[in-house]
Formats: sequence, C-alpha cells, structure tokens
Amino acid sequence: MCPTIVPYTYEAKKEKRIYFTSLLKDMKILVATEKPFARKAVDGIRSIVEEAGYQLELLEKYTEKAALLAAVADADALIIRSDKVTAEVIAAAKNLKIVVRAGAGYDNVDLEAAKARGIVVMNTPGQNSNAVAELAIAFMIYMSRNRFTPGTGCEIQGKRLGIHAYGNVGKLVGRKGKALGMEVVAYDPFITDDAVFAADGVKRVSSVEELYKVSDYLSLHIPATEQTRKSIGYDLLMSMPKGATLVNTARKEVIDEAGVIAALSEREDLKYITDIAPDAAAEMAEKFGKRFFATPKKMGAETAEANINAGLAAARQIVAFFKTGDTRFQVNK
Ligand code: NAD
Repeated sequence: MCPTIVPYTYEAKKEKRIYFTSLLKDMKILVATEKPFARKAVDGIRSIVEEAGYQLELLEKYTEKAALLAAVADADALIIRSDKVTAEVIAAAKNLKIVVRAGAGYDNVDLEAAKARGIVVMNTPGQNSNAVAELAIAFMIYMSRNRFTPGTGCEIQGKRLGIHAYGNVGKLVGRKGKALGMEVVAYDPFITDDAVFAADGVKRVSSVEELYKVSDYLSLHIPATEQTRKSIGYDLLMSMPKGATLVNTARKEVIDEAGVIAALSEREDLKYITDIAPDAAAEMAEKFGKRFFATPKKMGAETAEANINAGLAAARQIVAFFKTGDTRFQVNK
C-alpha cells in the first residue's frame, strides 16, 4: 500500500458535484483500458466528466478487439492507456472527435488515420514522469548491487550518468542523479537552449557517440519514432566505459536487440536493464544471467500517483477541448 493521497479534484469537488441532467446525453466519453486505471482515478475522471455535463462509459479489462470496436461506435471522446487505437478502431468510431492517451508515449495510436478523420490526438505529458524517473534510478542501484544477490556491488555516487533525451522524464532522472552525487551529462538534439541543461547542473554533450562513450550509466528516454527505431545497438554499447549499464525505461522498439546481444556477449562487463521486455528476453536472460533484467510487465508509470495524475489530466484535457477548443497537448497537428 502507498501512503494515501487525496487528489484535490476528486475529494474536494465530489461534495459540490453538480449534475447537468439535461446535457448528460450530449457527449459520451469512453474510458477503454485493458489494464484499468486505479479506482480513485476512475472516480476522479467520472467527477470531472459529469461536472462538465458529459456521460462517462467504462470498458475495462476487455480481452477482444471486438469489444473495443463496439464501445467506440458512439463515443465522442476516448481515454486510453497502452490500448491500441488502430485505423480499424478509428473507422469504427463514427462520432469520435478526440483521443487522449493517458501517458507520455503515443505510439499505440495511429496518428495519421486520426488526422485523416480530423480527430485530435493528445497525450498527457509530464503526468507520469516522476514514476518513470524513480524507476530508472532504482534500476541503476539494482544492477549496481548485482540484482540484490550476494557479492560486492558498487555505488552510483561519483559515477557518470548519461541521459539520452532531456524531456520530461530525462530531466527528472538528471536531477535525481545529481542529488545522488552523480555527474550528469545529457544529449538532446531538439533542445537548443543550453540554459535548460545548465539550470540542472547538467553538462550537454554534442553527439550520441560522445554520450555513450562517457556514460557509466546510460538512461534512455528517446521516443519510438521512425528515426529512433533500432537506433541503440552494438556500436554505441561497445563504446561505453568498463562496467557500464544501459537503462531502458523508454521503448523496446528503439533497441537493436541483435546488437545488444552481440555487445553483451563480447563484453562481459556490460549490463542491460529494461522496463520493456525485449522480444529476445529469454535468450538474454539465459546468456547474460545477472547482467540482464527485464520487468515482467512494463511498470514505469505504474504508481498510484501517476495513474491518478494521468487519468485526471486526460479528463480535464477533453473537457477543455470541448468547452474552449484547447488543443495545447495535441500530438497529430
Ligand atoms: P518527452 O516528450 O517529454 O521527451 C522526449 C524527449 O526526446 C524530447 O526532449 C525530445 O527532444 C527528445 N528526442 C526526440 N527525438 C530524439 C532523438 N532522435 N534523439 C534524442 N532525443 C530525442 O517524453 P518523456 O515523458 O520524457 O518520455 C520519454 C519516453 O519514455 C516516451 O516517449 C515513452 O516512450 C517512454 N515512457 C515510458 C514509460 C514506462 O512506463 N516505462 C512511461 C512514460 C514514458
């Protein structure tokens, strides 16, 4: 159990909830989650949606695509987690105007198919970043201590931490690394302002190659895109310092698994830990023993806090979109 958190939006507003009965039928907001939100998050989402005068429908723990196709048929808005919104789902959703992915990565949504229909797709940036950043730090310590098995480990203090992509999660990992006495360097070609790095006491490096070459721990935070797919592999790993660890809380698609296997086979000092099980997880576990670990199920954002934050943000973004046309978090412009 986590210490109890009482989200203001849920507890405080519950008492003064107002039902706009005449408007309830206007908009149907569907929450479709194979892996449901925490109950508190669902209650909070319901509260926001109903206060706005809309109707909430839940489709949880569905196992068949057909259930999703049927549920979206008359939905005006859709809130999802890692659920796949394919072109088929979009085609089935005749009234759909907006999809919000409660989370950061949105590679589970067919952006083009949505755009072709004029459907706005949003994510909820930053809402689960702390959860993921804490896991990345935990991963480093876990691997440094031989996955909590007997034997002499090492400390992360005084080591160099490389951050690949300095976005919402990367920044928090960098700050936490600094607080733990690490030297932090980062690479992000899309951040042009040096002050962003300097504000956190982080040194910017000018290339991916340089980043991997100097990092004892490399924390990966690039999104999965055409450009990044399979971009982390043999050459980058082989260039890392002795005893280095690659920490992946991003996506498995950015990893060239054959390259990682080749590098860890050739260099017995390298380690790889990931929150997204590789396709070759069984082979890696067998070949590399304590030098490899994958969480049984993606758990970066699996905290009560992140769950609630992302769910409530998704509901608020939908209400703002319908009430004021706010498209600030749109990712398929
Ligand atoms: P973000 O959008 O805030 O940051 C992404 C950063 O990547 C941006 O700063 C961008 O400039 C940078 N970037 C984009 N392309 C790049 C490239 N080719 N090279 C280097 N940098 C590049 O995203 P975030 O919230 O920090 O999340 C990062 C990723 O983590 C997400 O895309 C998602 O895939 C993953 N994630 C995983 C979990 C989990 O449960 N493990 C949870 C949340 C996010």
